[in-house]
Parts: sequence; structure tokens; C-alpha cells
Amino acid sequence: MTDTCVDCGSDLAAYEPVYVSETTDGERDPVGGFCNYACLSAYIDEAELTDGAACTWSPD
Ligand SMILES: [Zn+2]
Repeated sequence: MTDTCVDCGSDLAAYEPVYVSETTDGERDPVGGFCNYACLSAYIDEAELTDGAACTWSPD
């Protein structure tokens, strides 16, 4: 089985990939692998995953 980068589709065997999972109902839900943090960052920007997100939530 060959993993490919979620963002750019490159073969991760050529990289030292970063893997991401989300947690849904206490279960780990794998998002996939990325070539490196640059691809992860690009994916986050494209999907706007950080819009409105913060470690500390405040009603303001
Ligand atoms: Zn990539």
C-alpha cells in the first residue's frame, strides 16, 4: 500500500511524512498523510480549517 499526500498527491515514500487524524466521538479518524508541514499548511489554508478556530474559545 502506498500513501499519497492529501494536498499534492505525491508518493509519501519519498518524504518523511506528517500524518493527521481527527477525533470523532472519541475515535481517531485518520485524515491522511502530507509530504511535510508545508503541504499540511497549504491544505489547512485551502480548506480554511483554522477559520474561527482557536485554542481558547471566547464569546467575544
Ligand atoms: Zn505534498
